[in-house]
Amino acid sequence: MDIYRLPVLNDNYIFLLHDPQRNIAAVVDPAVAERVLQKIAELKATLVSIFNTHHHSDHVGGNLALLHHFPEAVVYASEADRGRIPGQQIFLGEGDLVSFGTLCAEVLFVPGHTSGHIAYYFPPLTTETSGNLFCGDTLFSGGCGRLFEGTPVQMVNSLSKIRCLPDDTQIWCAHEYTLNNLKFALTVDPQNLVLTQKFEDVQKMRQRLEATVPASLGIEKQTNPFLRWDADAILKATKTQDFVQSFARLRGMKDQF
Ligand code: ZN
Ligand code: FE
Repeated sequence: MDIYRLPVLNDNYIFLLHDPQRNIAAVVDPAVAERVLQKIAELKATLVSIFNTHHHSDHVGGNLALLHHFPEAVVYASEADRGRIPGQQIFLGEGDLVSFGTLCAEVLFVPGHTSGHIAYYFPPLTTETSGNLFCGDTLFSGGCGRLFEGTPVQMVNSLSKIRCLPDDTQIWCAHEYTLNNLKFALTVDPQNLVLTQKFEDVQKMRQRLEATVPASLGIEKQTNPFLRWDADAILKATKTQDFVQSFARLRGMKDQF
């Protein structure tokens, strides 16, 4: 499977999955349709699936226009988002399996940013390849989504599921927010040398207008404060020993940053 990252709007990424043998494509969170149609035409592929992570317009805005061009395509989204996803046909929950070509993805129910948010995890096929997680606005490189419809407990539980995945998992998050996220991360975890190094690398990448997505989950576990709510440095910065309170305070500090 080839994965193409399509930058759209201010800072969104749409991901196009392509199976070159079967000449089929799937799209994750099409904020808009035009850029996706252009890439599919370039690949001479047929769109068979639209995978949505949550109902926000910068993730589903292109659904209907894509269905207009590819009426056979199937729209997958969360059961908990029933009624909020244009063209939704398949209603997913935790542990459901979805297929694309010969590949299978597992659905993780990850509420917090929204009440129905899901993520799609494609496990590694061989020992030489890594898995891919399409996590929408739940996890960002260096950060996490704002809690618009969920509680800190829900988000900690959701991020815990992601934290269980193998370190070499590639994290395909839906926004290019990394540089600003790392600026905040350094304010709460200033002694973290892996974080300092990552910040320097990302600064250089962004100066060259390079994308910082996908991110490696192993590096995120070491640098992203929102995956480190129970680490000593973060507990110290949030002045609590309670993990959920630590996460809630951290999210509050970021909201004010
Ligand atoms: Zn969102
Ligand atoms: Fe978004």
